[in-house]
Amino acid sequence: MPNSLDQIIRPEILELSAYHVQPSIGMVKLDAMENPYSLPEDIRIEIARLAADLPTNRYPDTSAASLKAALREAMRIPVGMDIMLGNGSDEIIQIIALAVARPGAVLMSVEPAFVMFRMIATFARIGYRGISLKADFSLDLDVMLTTIARYQPAVIFIAYPNNPTGNLFDAEAVSRIIEAAPGAVVVDEAYHAFADASFMGRLTQHPNLLLMRTLSKLGLAGLRLGLLIGRPEWLTQLEKLRLPYNVGVMTQLVVEKVLQHPDILQQQAVAIKAERAVMSECLKALDGVEVFPTDANFILLRVKEASQVFLELKKHGVLIKNLDGSHPLLRNCLRVTIGKPDENAQFLEALQASIKKPIN
Ligand SMILES: *Cc1c(COP(=O)(O)O)cnc(C)c1O
Repeated sequence: MPNSLDQIIRPEILELSAYHVQPSIGMVKLDAMENPYSLPEDIRIEIARLAADLPTNRYPDTSAASLKAALREAMRIPVGMDIMLGNGSDEIIQIIALAVARPGAVLMSVEPAFVMFRMIATFARIGYRGISLKADFSLDLDVMLTTIARYQPAVIFIAYPNNPTGNLFDAEAVSRIIEAAPGAVVVDEAYHAFADASFMGRLTQHPNLLLMRTLSKLGLAGLRLGLLIGRPEWLTQLEKLRLPYNVGVMTQLVVEKVLQHPDILQQQAVAIKAERAVMSECLKALDGVEVFPTDANFILLRVKEASQVFLELKKHGVLIKNLDGSHPLLRNCLRVTIGKPDENAQFLEALQASIKKPIN
């Protein structure tokens, strides 16, 4: 008779709860930082035509040379830096964690941060240190520097802007961390399109800086493409862990095509930023709602009874993210992704109705 699974699966895996994706059919979907706009029809038709001729019987180009060249130009990647592609940036986080997971190695980040940093540390059997942000969601630089000195983390992940708080950290503080770190520092710029700041220009300054981007939040979440930018010394090693055909032919084709029209996604990002400003103002005008500053395509807010408001919103057909209970700094916090103007209006209306409801 085979052993029971709890004698076979690693205990730390048995203990995990899977990354939770909420059912969203028929809902106003403002929970996952997706770009609400689709591609223009002429581009979609062009893609369909190209897709018809794709050699889907063949493996994709594992070097993705032509896609990388397009990314290099679109993102103004500095000369001398290499690119590694991932099936979303989630996969890149996993590759990095696997690469540095020597016995006793530590992966460090902040809390609250993107939950995959911690989860992937567990997958890769690497120790995890999450340093709490200050109450205003800024970096606790002193604690971070002492933790770096004490635990010598092999890698530090910093999302810039941060998810789920939405803010940009002080760039000089991040630079101090990069300079103090004995290992790699990955600056995760998933929300770069909505912020006016980047570490791209600092890559040449810091030999241990790796910059991560994704096309997901920009508008191509369904295609799954993330990229890591850094020195060849680092990327040559990490490439060894990348599964050879991790980026499919369809993703390579479509992303390259869309990058030939860089203005499309950029203009959508501009529209999202404008809506973000409108929405922040509307939220600030509501009684009992605290609105946090954001440089991303979502807004973090605090209400009186977040879990109840979250459920009320759902009843109104609006899906957002409830963060209450996920970290002490996020007590009664909700995160809402910026949608189209009519979706945002529906959210605001439902929110007003939900916060007015007496607490039972
Ligand atoms: C969404 C997100 C990612 C992951 O994006 P992919 O879709 O896997 O490319 C990475 N980092 C942060 C901070 C995110 O919010």
